Amino acid sequence: MTNIILLGPPGAGKGTQAKRLVEERGMVQLSTGDMLREARTSGTEMGRKVAAVMDAGHLVTDDIVVGLIEEKLTHGAAAGGYIFDGFPRTLKQADALGALMARIGQPLDAVIELRVDDEALKQRIVGRFTCGNCGAVYHDMNHPPKVSGTCDACGGTAMKRRADDTEEALRTRMLAYYRDTSPLVGYYYAKGQLATVDGLAEMDAVSAALAKVLDT
Ligand code: AMP
Repeated sequence: MTNIILLGPPGAGKGTQAKRLVEERGMVQLSTGDMLREARTSGTEMGRKVAAVMDAGHLVTDDIVVGLIEEKLTHGAAAGGYIFDGFPRTLKQADALGALMARIGQPLDAVIELRVDDEALKQRIVGRFTCGNCGAVYHDMNHPPKVSGTCDACGGTAMKRRADDTEEALRTRMLAYYRDTSPLVGYYYAKGQLATVDGLAEMDAVSAALAKVLDT
């Protein structure tokens, strides 16, 4: 069993690669972004509280996301291992995750940084959309579905775009990444847990590089 963190700015491909690892290795994806979007859709009080913060591209408070992760981790171990996707995003969250993993007696095996060029990110994010039914990820230019508006994977026709995938919100999200999250690269490097993968390579090449880290 392997537990990993996928680290990288918005649009680096964390979600796409996490979904592949779930399919290929039976790992469990823990995406705080997905959990927060779910809370919004189901209209919980917390969901309503974070909506405007998320749409503007700011980070929600550490307490909220640590609480979400704690709830998942204390509900039994994932046989195939956990993929932390979009968490931790601050040093405080990283410390909280370390404490939580110690509490449940699980190792954190690797922290994989998907390194990407900032200009490429803008292009990736501003064109992306997903299937509302199965979550498959598409892009207007780089990866359109074979039949426009129809999901290749499940045939669904309800495509979704995120409210924060706009140029303005992206600027705020990038700022949050470089100010609050990028120090984690040094933090995990110093702990001897960091591996870096070229996130701009072809999707299959990124998967192969991740597999190499996971299998060594
Ligand atoms: P993501 O889907 O990971 O890009 O997350 C979407 C948005 O959810 C972010 O821009 C933040 O507003 C919020 N969010 C997700 N994960 C975290 C986190 N670990 N810490 C703080 N805010 C988060």
